[in-house]
Amino acid sequence: NLSDKLDRAFKVLKGHGSITEINVAETVKEVRKALLDADVNYKTAKAFTDTVKEKALGMNVLTSVSPGQLMVKVVNDELVELMGGNVSELDIKQNPSIILIAGLNGAGKTTFTGKLANYLKTQKGKKPFLVAADVYRPAAIDQLKVLSEQIGVPVYTDYESKDPVKIAEAGIAKAKADGNTVVIIDTAGRLAIDEQMMNEIADVKAATKPHEILFVVDSMTGQDAVNTAKAFNDRLDFTGVVLTKLDGDTRGGAALSIKSVVNKPIKFIGTGEKMDAIDVFYPDRMASRILGMGDVVSLVERAQQQFDEKQAAELQKKIRKNKFDFNDFLSQLNQIKKMGNIKDLMGMIPGVGKAIKDVDIDDDAFKHIEAIIQSMTPTERENPELINGNRRQRIANGSGTSIAEVNKLLKQFEDMRKMMKVFSDPGQAAKMMRNMP
Ligand code: GDP
Ligand code: MG
Repeated sequence: NLSDKLDRAFKVLKGHGSITEINVAETVKEVRKALLDADVNYKTAKAFTDTVKEKALGMNVLTSVSPGQLMVKVVNDELVELMGGNVSELDIKQNPSIILIAGLNGAGKTTFTGKLANYLKTQKGKKPFLVAADVYRPAAIDQLKVLSEQIGVPVYTDYESKDPVKIAEAGIAKAKADGNTVVIIDTAGRLAIDEQMMNEIADVKAATKPHEILFVVDSMTGQDAVNTAKAFNDRLDFTGVVLTKLDGDTRGGAALSIKSVVNKPIKFIGTGEKMDAIDVFYPDRMASRILGMGDVVSLVERAQQQFDEKQAAELQKKIRKNKFDFNDFLSQLNQIKKMGNIKDLMGMIPGVGKAIKDVDIDDDAFKHIEAIIQSMTPTERENPELINGNRRQRIANGSGTSIAEVNKLLKQFEDMRKMMKVFSDPGQAAKMMRNMP
């Protein structure tokens, strides 16, 4: 599997502390192959692996997992990020909210229309209403009618009219009069993109001003799915994508390609013909499906957590012995940085968010501190008391800061070290509290 292949690509690495240029190039080739296997288009796969390459370089290797496994995690996280990171919610706040369904013939529009109504009714407490605006096939109207009876949701039909705009408008009026909260309009598709279909659906859009336009696409159509998505988006500027037929053995690479080409969120997936075979789109689940490596990802997550815990325990020990040094300080800074930007982090502390709203805390302050520490020699980092006047000047020059800044950091570091020692010893902390005025 991919993880084994990456391990082989990484065999040069054994014994090195971090990932280097040579083995990343090999690895990236394997990742790209895996993505192409999962039906991600070439351009997307290439752009993606370039980003991964950059992220992977210089990353620390954990002893408890192999570099290949670690790379899988990097790739996975990047996939999640690219597919939007988080769940993208449907806009159903209006009363009623109008949802227009678009896509080619056979994509699964009518089926999804029923599924979505059922989902909104049973999971979101909404009162959905369906409109059958596919004027070309009476069978399509019957199909929606059958589904509506099955899920117990009303439907508007008009077997006589050939005008989807009139049908949509009449349907919305009826839905409003009956006090429904969501209107879902099912439309006609074609076998391929054609001008008349696009005009028709654009007209329905203009007349009904939908809050959501969902583009439904068959995930098994691979590369074609991407081209279709682009054509519909150019014309309709849709608000979200629905990927159907993910119950088959398709690996779902279309999700990544579509997202990267049209840059619209994927909101739902279809996983079967039944009315409950609908799921909200979760980028993390799709990432492990595309890679086929969910187990490796959770393995690395556990290893990283254990690694952090081990580090924390070692740090405690060092603090108690007053051996906390600049290396530890630097790794603490990196931990903080991993969690996001400083202002966001502080903003999460109750009461602080508002107070710092207009204050300019930039991450530059941290960059200076990092630069100063990086200009120290290993011996100096471990023994800060060695850093005399000459050394301070050298460090200031090396880091492009001033001697005043270096002095300030050293002073702060010394104070911090004292505080840490006190607080790591409950007996001493209590004594200090008692002595406070
Ligand atoms: P439309 O032409 O876009 O309205 O497509 P339909 O809703 O009529 O669906 C076309 C065919 O695909 C039907 O046979 C559906 O049962 C089937 N279908 C739709 N969604 C899914 C799905 O998520 N999984 C599977 N396996 N079949 C689906
Ligand atoms: Mg249909």
